[in-house]
Amino acid sequence: MDKKEVRTRFAPSPTGYMHIGNLRTALYAYLFAKHDNGKFILRIEDTDQKRYVEGATEVIYKTLEQTHLIHDEGPDIGGNYGPYVQSERKPMYKEYALKLVEKGEAYYCFCSGNKDEEDTDEDSHEEEVKTYGYNRHCRNLSKEEVEKNLAEGKPYVIRQKVPIDSTITFHDEVYGDITVDTNTLDDQILLKSDGMPTYNFANVVDDYLMDITHVIRGKEYISSTPKYQLLYNAFGWEAPKTIHLSTIMGQNADGTVSKLSKRHGAVSFAKLLELGYLQEAIINYIALLGWSARQEREVFSLSELVEMFDIDGIVKTNAIFDYKKLDWFNAIYITQMSHEEFIEYSKDYIKELPEYLKEKWDFASTLAQSRISKFSDIVPMFEFLSNYTDFDLALFENKKNKLDKAQSLQILQDMYVTLTATKDWSVENLNKIIQDYTTEKEFKIGKTMWPLRIGVTGQVVTPGGGAEMLYLLGKEESLNRIQNCINRLQ
Ligand code: GLU
Repeated sequence: MDKKEVRTRFAPSPTGYMHIGNLRTALYAYLFAKHDNGKFILRIEDTDQKRYVEGATEVIYKTLEQTHLIHDEGPDIGGNYGPYVQSERKPMYKEYALKLVEKGEAYYCFCSGNKDEEDTDEDSHEEEVKTYGYNRHCRNLSKEEVEKNLAEGKPYVIRQKVPIDSTITFHDEVYGDITVDTNTLDDQILLKSDGMPTYNFANVVDDYLMDITHVIRGKEYISSTPKYQLLYNAFGWEAPKTIHLSTIMGQNADGTVSKLSKRHGAVSFAKLLELGYLQEAIINYIALLGWSARQEREVFSLSELVEMFDIDGIVKTNAIFDYKKLDWFNAIYITQMSHEEFIEYSKDYIKELPEYLKEKWDFASTLAQSRISKFSDIVPMFEFLSNYTDFDLALFENKKNKLDKAQSLQILQDMYVTLTATKDWSVENLNKIIQDYTTEKEFKIGKTMWPLRIGVTGQVVTPGGGAEMLYLLGKEESLNRIQNCINRLQ
């Protein structure tokens, strides 16, 4: 038998931002499909119109484009299974809900307390794990009663008729066989009173009609999957395979972990980009948040990930989003940029730098590129150059370089004379001056460098040596600072 073409889908609700967890779902769905030369489909799940956010679908398109998770079908590019926006499929759901009513697998419910809020997806989803259930009042209404109510124009919803005293089993590709007692399942609403489907119904109809072979989504949907399985059974459809992904957690201040949210730091793709994380680094990192490459190596391009991705590597235990690890990945990707790319990318991040540094950005950027872990580190990294205050003179004493205050003073005085006479204030020439003086005095280079570097910056750790710091500060400011140190040491 010919193998069915793999078709996965990314089915975000237009919430206005791309949470890292959603992006990981998109990534895995993309990788899984592409690994098998299959199709990756984008479907917009906007059945909850109350939560509509202006411009939200654009955020989704933009994110997929920026991350190169190119979909093969979707609202913007079409395909044979459209429309790809659920609100545009509205009439279809009613048709299918009525089919279930006909089959005795669903029923009209006219109860006044039917809340459309029962639509569940996204954040509301987990709360949906029922502490109450519908009392099934309308489950056994006679045909006549139903017709009478419909003729009177009574508002209604359509509910799933969940079997009583039975069990339902489905197989998840990651978590294995899962069996649930149907008495724990609610007669959930399939079609709301406004004719819109609930998420729980729409996803089943759409995944079937769109020939989805593998449903990849967050583990929080496992508890609803038995109900979906019942729906597939009710229709007589083969259910797609499911691949549920572990939850991404964040580390709390007190050492505990909880579902990754804003209190842990930036959690949207856009926010991470804004902080100066590169999309390649974000994708590389989140690829490994819930899937293991089972290799020493951790840095992978998107095409390498496509090649390697498999279900066996999907990890059941929850992953912890570690900003330090993301920094580590990002620093690697930053150092791999060409210097031109780095300069170009940094433009948005250097606006707050003092003018003299901006003018010398061509050079200062070389110091930054090998030292920052994200672009927003740039301004704070050079801040110390502008915050020059009377620092502790004990910094001039340094055992390793065999320096005490008196020797530091002597070096500063000598250098002050030479530097005052220097016309060529290039890094190259400054280095030569420092080297010549060191040779003449038969010092080790660190001995000359230390008082100079400390003297003009007031810092032990600097992103570059003495000559670099002198160059960045310029001649006048450097000499002022050296003079100030001389005065204070005397
Ligand atoms: N619209 C749902 C969400 O954004 C999709 C869940 C699914 O993939 O089935 O979470």
